[in-house]
Amino acid sequence: MQKQLCGWVEQGISRVKMKVGRDAKVDKRRVAAARKSIGEEVDLFVDANGAYSRKQAIAQAHAFEQFGVRWFEEPVSSDDLEGLRFIRNHAPAGIEIAAGEYGYDVDYFRRMLDAGAVDVLQADATRCCGFTGFLQAATLCDAYHVPLSSHCAPALHVHIGCATPATRHAEYFHDHTRIERMIFDGVAEPGAGALRAGLDQPGLGLILKRADAQNFAI
Ligand SMILES: [Mg+2]
Repeated sequence: MQKQLCGWVEQGISRVKMKVGRDAKVDKRRVAAARKSIGEEVDLFVDANGAYSRKQAIAQAHAFEQFGVRWFEEPVSSDDLEGLRFIRNHAPAGIEIAAGEYGYDVDYFRRMLDAGAVDVLQADATRCCGFTGFLQAATLCDAYHVPLSSHCAPALHVHIGCATPATRHAEYFHDHTRIERMIFDGVAEPGAGALRAGLDQPGLGLILKRADAQNFAI
C-alpha cells in the first residue's frame, strides 16, 4: 500500500485515498503507515465503504485526525443518512464526510443533501443516469452550497467536471484508469496532479481501440 500511494505521489498527485473499515484497530496502524510514507504535504483520504458503526466511525475520525486525514468517505452506510449527519457533526472540523457514489437519480442526491449528510457529495455518471443525472447532481450541489466530487471512471468525468462549477475533483481510480487505457485511445494522463480535457477531439476525446476491445467481446 505504501508503495502504491508513493507511486501516485511521485506522479504529482496531491491527494491519495486508501480503503479502511475491515479492522478498526489495524486501520489506525495502516493510516499511520500511509502518512509516514507520503509525507506531510499530500492530502490523505480514507474510504470505509460503510463498514463502521456510528460511534466507531467518530472514534476513528478522531484517531485519523492526528495523521492529517482530510476526507472520510462512507464512514457508515450511505443509506444511514441520519448516521452520516451525526458523524459529520461530531467528526473533527478538518475531516470532510463524503458519500453519494451509489446515487441513481436526482431524488437520491436531494435526500442526501436535505439530510445534511455530507460535506462533499459524490456522483458517478455511469450510475446516475449519465451526464444528465450528473448535471442534476451538480445543480443541486450549487443550490445547497456543497461541493461535488466525481466517483470512478475518470475518463468520463474530465469534461463534465470542467463544465460544472460545483465539481471540486475527480477520483482517479486505479482499476478504471488501467482499463480505460486498455480499450481507449485519448485517455487523459494526469499532469502535475490534474486531468485536462483535450480540446482537439470532439466529445470526450476517446476512441475505442476496436481490435483490443475485441479480446473482451462476449
Ligand atoms: Mg467509495
